[in-house]
Amino acid sequence: MNILAIESSCDETSASVISNGKIRSNVVTTQLIHEQYGGVVPELASRAHQQMILPVVEKALKDAKIAKNALQAIAFTRGPGLMGALLVGTSFAKAMALGLAIPLIEVNHMQAHVLAHFIEEPRPSFPFLCLTVSGGHTQIVRVNSPLEMEIIGQTLDDAVGEAFDKSAKLLGLPYPGGPLIDKYAKEGNPMAYDFPIPDVPDLNFSFSGIKTSIMYFLQKQIRQNPDFVKENLTDICASIQHTLIKILLKKLTKATRQTGIREVAIAGGVSANSGLRKTLGEVGQKEGWQVYIPRFEYCTDNAAMIAMAAHFKYLAEDFTDQTVSPLARMEW
Ligand code: ATP
Ligand code: MG
Ligand code: FE
Repeated sequence: MNILAIESSCDETSASVISNGKIRSNVVTTQLIHEQYGGVVPELASRAHQQMILPVVEKALKDAKIAKNALQAIAFTRGPGLMGALLVGTSFAKAMALGLAIPLIEVNHMQAHVLAHFIEEPRPSFPFLCLTVSGGHTQIVRVNSPLEMEIIGQTLDDAVGEAFDKSAKLLGLPYPGGPLIDKYAKEGNPMAYDFPIPDVPDLNFSFSGIKTSIMYFLQKQIRQNPDFVKENLTDICASIQHTLIKILLKKLTKATRQTGIREVAIAGGVSANSGLRKTLGEVGQKEGWQVYIPRFEYCTDNAAMIAMAAHFKYLAEDFTDQTVSPLARMEW
């Protein structure tokens, strides 16, 4: 059984082919045009998807050595994401499924981030907890089966990826700043500066306060020394990263104790962060968790995770009809 999957929710145009649960190809192109604007510009993202989608799909089929007429279904990200970006992938998938007279499968992008864990060994066993951390979301998900998951905690304001990117912007670093904070943090002292840990009830998160406290801290320091950021960049980055990771691990630990679940996974773009990966391993060892961390390329946006989710939906015969339209915000 061969499925072609398309991802176009934000600024990556990606296509992947999966055969009987095994990924045969995964082509990912990242739109570089947004860097000069310091963030993703929705209209430009949509146009770039239109330019890239055909060559990306063709390459995914070629890499997988699968002809179009050997496909049994076409999968696509229905949401959440940028409407104009989602429309490109959705329309393309609908047209292709119609042309080939095969079923369509819609995939929720956030559930696909979680299911990226089933692309390669070792796979978590059910039930497991997944900390999904990305540019638009911060969630603790209880995963009971591939198609049955529940959000048990989430951010009340900004996502942690946004906190990384906005902090980086305050430091004058280009977009997306998350990976750069990670890079500089490696050379710095995480204890150099202290930022407050917010007190948020239950298993929820808040990241808007920390962004503001970083802004005030920097303004105050720069008044005293205009070169403060330049002279202390690695220490500032290490301290910011340390604080964000501490907030995440605090709630994740609480969730494992509340649920009694010790199978713990991370997913989403921020799970590419080397500090988070290292700390999760250390805390996991101390707490007696079995920890699952996907390979870098399956953390940030990619169509292989969409294909993996589509594989499970195909087995459950969960198909979508041609009247489907994308959803910028998508309920589970
Ligand atoms: P969503 O999945 O919520 O719709 P998205 O698709 O934009 O949002 P992803 O591609 O999953 O998000 O993740 C992008 C985010 O991950 C960005 O905020 C980026 O800065 C962050 N990120 C990527 N690599 C790292 C890293 N090494 N350290 C910290 N953050 C990182
Ligand atoms: Mg992206
Ligand atoms: Fe994503």
